[in-house]
Amino acid sequence: MSDLVIARSNRRLGQSGLTVAPIAYGMWRYAGTDVADATRKVEIALDAGMTLFDTADVYGLDSDMHFGAAEELFGEVLAARPALRDRMVIASKGGIIPGTPYDSSATYLRKACEASLRRLKIDVIDLYQIHRPDMLSHPAEVAETLTALRTEGKIREIGLSNHTSAQIRALQAHLDVPLATQQPEFSAIAVEPVTNGVLDLCMETGMTPLAWSPLAGGRLMLEANEAATPELADVIITLDRLAKERGVSRTAIALAFVLAHPSAPIPIIGSQTPVRIADAMSALDVTLTRADWYAVYEAATGQPLP
Ligand code: NAP
Repeated sequence: MSDLVIARSNRRLGQSGLTVAPIAYGMWRYAGTDVADATRKVEIALDAGMTLFDTADVYGLDSDMHFGAAEELFGEVLAARPALRDRMVIASKGGIIPGTPYDSSATYLRKACEASLRRLKIDVIDLYQIHRPDMLSHPAEVAETLTALRTEGKIREIGLSNHTSAQIRALQAHLDVPLATQQPEFSAIAVEPVTNGVLDLCMETGMTPLAWSPLAGGRLMLEANEAATPELADVIITLDRLAKERGVSRTAIALAFVLAHPSAPIPIIGSQTPVRIADAMSALDVTLTRADWYAVYEAATGQPLP
């Protein structure tokens, strides 16, 4: 039985000029601490080898803070320690307005991107992503705004998040540069991208998938008897079996499941606990067989494959 290959080396984001490590650090839960603690987390992620840092203008609201809080905190870290900027690729997102909830119109998107730049205190956002598709913005208008922001040097590369394959294709048709990334939720329990066409499209076009909540926001770390669904319990039991067989952590197996897909997804980890941030890269040392991967997949879907 052949082993699955995990690409361990740094890789390009799509066909872009950006190169990043195979595991990224996510900042959804980053707001709500002081600059010293926030700096420490960034340094731990960098020292572990992560180079892509994923934030968004809306991050902070879920941490009982405010819109922009995560970017503001990251901006303070970067202002206090400018040398850190050279060691990282910064990704942010715009297009969500809580209460609206989406706006990718030309006027709003430009305003959102420029506000992110101000909060982050940087001149250019390396990867700017549309956080969720705005069904009321024509892709030609979105593409025109993103192209203008790129031409003006405010963003380097363009990515999407939570878009369907059809929405990705529609936007790409109006862009004169290839989309670098697409960000779906993908984990050992959220396996829809495997069959909904998104990862296939990434392999067709060369876009890099960035997998959000690769530990299902911590749900994959529960005890099996705490799981809300039989499928989640079954996934946890399967991950633990594989972890025991290899003498590694359940986290390492869960991240390896994401990494092993042939579209070479980059999991964006979200832990705020230093030791867990430092440990995440150990997933790169795990080798899964096809049977291991399919066992997790079948547990997640609750259906044996034919
Ligand atoms: P995650 O890595 O799936 O979950 C992290 C959460 O799991 C943290 O609350 C962490 O708690 C908890 N956890 C519990 N046990 C853990 C263990 N043993 N090891 C590691 N973590 C454990 O990721 P996420 O935070 O949900 O999301 C990651 C990133 O994805 C975000 O920061 C963001 O960049 C991106 N994202 C994007 C979207 C989108 O719409 N594009 C949506 C959601 C997230 P501790 O902090 O206490 O360790």
